[in-house]
Amino acid sequence: MPPWSAIDTIMFDMDGTLLDLHFDNYFWQILVPKIYSDTHQVSLNEAEDFIVKKYEEVHGTLDWYCLDYWQEELALDITALKNSIKHKIQIRPNVEQVLQALQSSDKNILLITNAHPSSLELKMKHTGISNYFHRMISSHTLRLAKENHGFWEALKDMEHYNPETTVLFDDSLPVLRQAAREKIKYLFGISKPDSKKPVVQTNEFPLIEDFGQLLPLA
Ligand SMILES: [Mg+2]
Repeated sequence: MPPWSAIDTIMFDMDGTLLDLHFDNYFWQILVPKIYSDTHQVSLNEAEDFIVKKYEEVHGTLDWYCLDYWQEELALDITALKNSIKHKIQIRPNVEQVLQALQSSDKNILLITNAHPSSLELKMKHTGISNYFHRMISSHTLRLAKENHGFWEALKDMEHYNPETTVLFDDSLPVLRQAAREKIKYLFGISKPDSKKPVVQTNEFPLIEDFGQLLPLA
C-alpha cells in the first residue's frame, strides 16, 4: 500500500491501469488486421504479418502510440475505426470509487498517458472520468514516450512534482522501470491489465489486483 501521508502527487496511467486494456488489444490485434485485410485486399494472414512487422519497427517509441502515424502507414481511418467500437471501452473495477475518494484529499491527481490526444479525448468522453484529474497529460505533448529516457524529468517542466513524494500506477513495466531510473519513489504495476488475458508475472514492482485494495485511503 502506498504510504498516503508521505505522498502529495498521484499519477495514473490510463490504458491497462484505469481502463481495461482489452479495448486496445482487441483494436490493434484483431480489428485493425481484419480491416486492413478487407480494405487492401490481402489475406488476413498477410495483413497480420505485415502489421506485426510494422508494430515491431516502432515499439517503445512515440510513433507506436500515434494515431496519425498509423493512419498514414496503414492507410486506414484509425480514428473512425476506434469510434466504431467505443462501446468496448471499460473502466476497471473500483477505479471510480478510488478517484472519488481521492477528490476529497488535497493531493494532486494526474493522468499521464502515452495515448494520442484524440484517443485520450475519446476515452474521457466515453467514461466521463476526466473531472477527477487536476490535469491530464498526453506524452505526445512532450514528444517523448513515458518509457523513453528523460520523460519524467521533462514532465517536471510541464507539471512540477517532487519524485520523492509521488506515486505512479502504470501497467507497463518499461514505463515503471524508466520512472524508477528517474527516481519516482512509489511505483505500482497492474496484475491483469487486460481482463481477457493472463496475469502479469513479476517481482520487480508490487502489483494492484483491484483498485478496491486501496480503499479506504486512510
Ligand atoms: Mg498503460
